[in-house]
Parts: sequence; C-alpha cells; structure tokens
Amino acid sequence: MTRQATQVGIVGAGPAGLLLGHLLHLNGIDSVIVEDRSREHVIDRVRAGVLEQGTVDLMAAMGVGGGVEHAGLRHAGLYISFLGQRHRIDLTELTGGKAITVYGQNEVVRDLIDARTATGRPLYFETEDVGVAELDSTEPVIRFRHGGSAHELRCDFIAGCDGFHGVCRPSIPSGALTVYEREYPFGWLGILAEAAPSSDELVYTLHERGFALFSMRSPKVTRLYLQVPPDEPIEQWSDDAIWDEMLRRMTTRDGWKPNIGRITQKSVTPMRSFVAAPMRHGRLFLAGDAAHIVPPTGAKGLNLAASDVLVLARALKGFYERGSSDWLNEYSDTCLRRVWKAQRFSWWMTSTLHRSPDETAFDHQRQIADLDYLTSSCAAMTSLAEQYVGLPMEVSFESAGLPAGG
Ligand SMILES: Cc1cc2nc3c(=O)[nH]c(=O)nc-3n(C[C@H](O)[C@H](O)[C@H](O)COP(=O)(O)OP(=O)(O)OC[C@H]3O[C@@H](n4cnc5c(N)ncnc54)[C@H](O)[C@@H]3O)c2cc1C
Repeated sequence: MTRQATQVGIVGAGPAGLLLGHLLHLNGIDSVIVEDRSREHVIDRVRAGVLEQGTVDLMAAMGVGGGVEHAGLRHAGLYISFLGQRHRIDLTELTGGKAITVYGQNEVVRDLIDARTATGRPLYFETEDVGVAELDSTEPVIRFRHGGSAHELRCDFIAGCDGFHGVCRPSIPSGALTVYEREYPFGWLGILAEAAPSSDELVYTLHERGFALFSMRSPKVTRLYLQVPPDEPIEQWSDDAIWDEMLRRMTTRDGWKPNIGRITQKSVTPMRSFVAAPMRHGRLFLAGDAAHIVPPTGAKGLNLAASDVLVLARALKGFYERGSSDWLNEYSDTCLRRVWKAQRFSWWMTSTLHRSPDETAFDHQRQIADLDYLTSSCAAMTSLAEQYVGLPMEVSFESAGLPAGG
C-alpha cells in the first residue's frame, strides 16, 4: 500500500479535472489527479468543439490558451436554417464583440495534459478500482490501484470531476442529493468527415425529417450531426445512407450543402438534461458532467465544466489563503445559478430544433413560428447570441488568482 497526502485530490482528467488542477497550481495549491483511462483514450475521445468567449478568455488568462489562439476557428456568427433557407445571426455584432471558437475538446485536453506534465505535479492515468470515502471527515480519501499496487491518497478536499458515469456522485449517500432529469426521445448521430467545411459558420437546421447540425473541427474536417432515435444502432447506417440523409435535411433552396468526404468516425449519443444538487457533500465537490448534463444542442457542457472549476478554485484559494470557508459553502449555489440558465437555454434550443415523435401539427407550426420570430427580431437574436457566446461567469478571474479578463 502506497500512502500519500495532498491538498486537493481530483478524480478525472477531463476538461474539469485538468482545468482545476492548473488553476490550483497557479495558486500554489497541491493536487493529485487520478484518471482511470489511458492518456491516448482521454485525448482521442471525440466530443465538444464549441468554446464560449469566457472559456477562451479563461484559458488565455491561465496561460494555456496558445493552442486555441493558434488553431481555434473564431466564429462571429451562426446560421439557423428552416423551410429551406439559412438565416445568419451575427453573434459578434449583437454581443459587443464576443464570439465562439471552434477548437476540439481533444485539443483542449491535450493542451491541458501538456501543461500539467510541465508543472511536474502528479497525474495518474490507467488507475483501477477508484473509490472515494470518508467524505464527511476533514481527511477524505481516494483509494485506487496503479501499476499493480494499492494507493491511498489522503486529501483536504476531493473534487469529483469524473463525468456523468464516474464514482464520485454515486458515493454520496442516497437522499443527500436531489436529481432533476429529463430524457429526450431522440439522440444525435455524429460523424467526422475528411471534407473541407462548406460554410465558415455552424448551421443549425430544423427539417421536416428532423434536426441536423453542420459544424467543423478544422479547415479540412467537417463535423455533422443528425437527429435519430436515441437507441439507434449505428451499424444500421451505411456511409452512403448517412450522406443521403445529411444532404436531404441540410441542402437549402439556394443550393448550399455540406461537402462530402470519407467518414472517419461515427457514433450515436442519447440526449439528456440532468442536474444533481447540491454539488457538494461534506468535503467532496462535484464539477462538470459529474454534477450536470445538458443536451449538446446549446454547446454548453464543456463550458459549464470550465465555469464550475473557476468557482471551485476561488473557493479553495479563499480557504488556503484566508482560512475562510465562506466561498466553499457558497460553491453549489453559485454554480447552479449559471448551470440552470444553461439548462434552460439547451432545453429551448433542443425543443425548438428537433421533431418529437409525439408532437402535433400545431407543435411543428409553433416551432416554425418560433424560428421565424427568432431570425427576424433583433431582441430575439440578441437573446440567443448572448447565451450562445456564454453568459458571464459567476465569479471574476481575479478572485481565482488570475489576471483580469473575460
Ligand atoms: C457528441 C457531443 C458533443 C458535445 N458538444 C459540446 C460542445 O460543442 N460544447 C460543449 O461545451 N460541450 C459539448 N459536449 C459536452 C462535453 O463534452 C462535456 O460536457 C465535457 O466533456 C465535460 O467535461 P468533464 O471534465 O466534466 O467530464 P468528462 O469529459 O466526462 O471527463 C471525466 C473524466 O473522468 C474520468 N473518469 C470517469 N470515471 C472515473 C473513475 N471512476 N476514476 C477516475 N477517472 C474517471 C473519465 O475517463 C474522464 O476522463 C458534447 C458532448 C457530446 C457527447
């Protein structure tokens, strides 16, 4: 048995865990990160791609924004397409200069792992049998196996950054958490294709056959999504069938359509809204997908993980520098205010742009009217724009020990 101690034990090396580890490092607070998958697996996982303005600013303020600045694709607008026509919403003009940046989660995670490695602080990959215990004590513990030997890590605090399927949230006694959940009767079939993006900006489409999203990862790689049933077997979709359906839903009356290329990755993801509250039990603090999930339509998941850990870093800094638990005690309420606004926005984007199996003809006409209003009213476009580029973080960068920004 190897026994260690640290100030903050972090379970999970996704965006939440890695960002938190670096924020703590910048404040001189020790941490150990424990991840159960391999470095390659964590980097190769294809997931988010849209970073809010605040997330880009946060990474820059943390000194880990070089990759985003160099290779991120800054988008000043997006398109909403319905009844065969694309309508542009100018995000930058409507928000006083803000934008979103397309930069794959893979790249975010790769940059953060490199930054962690450069600090020399511990990050264990390929751990097994990870468990957390004694959460109500002042010395909670993370137990795991690594390289064939058992480890016991005593911590002042544990950050549960282990995603929706992790071990931290289920370790909280039943009854201590309230769960708010909504499952949607559809999922997203997502593909990566070797095809130059035919639009510089994202195109969200409501078609009578269902939702479709045109996105990209780089000047050579297109990322596309189709609404499908939530349990759709991916094997049922040949590459030709996927392209047929993409083109049917996305092609507009003026002839715009995605470029076709070799499909290099395809998968189906079910859609869910989920919040577990409070985001704290004793000395265990949940952050990111461990505490909440949004359907990806609003592109908020990774961005919420970033804003959670900024709040947590501030709280831990307050504890170590001033001996104050005030910000720790406020952590859950502070995060949940932003989480619920992102939940509402993601639910609205999802229900406005997808076709539900139980919808009526009335519901569909209402959706069309909603989109017509959205794309013709400056007030409605401004509302979408300010939420899409990201509502303000609940705490300032300076309060978490960073240079001013955002
Ligand atoms: C198809 C799709 C598209 C998306 N698009 C967007 C988008 O455009 N914008 C956006 O903001 N978000 C998007 N998201 C959501 C985003 O990917 C997640 O919200 C984000 O990954 C959350 O980060 P996290 O660190 O909280 O959790 P995760 O990324 O899930 O990381 C958790 C980590 O913990 C590890 N772990 C799990 N269990 C254990 C254990 N027992 N012990 C140790 N480690 C463990 C996992 O291996 C993982 O590395 C998308 C998601 C999907 C699926």
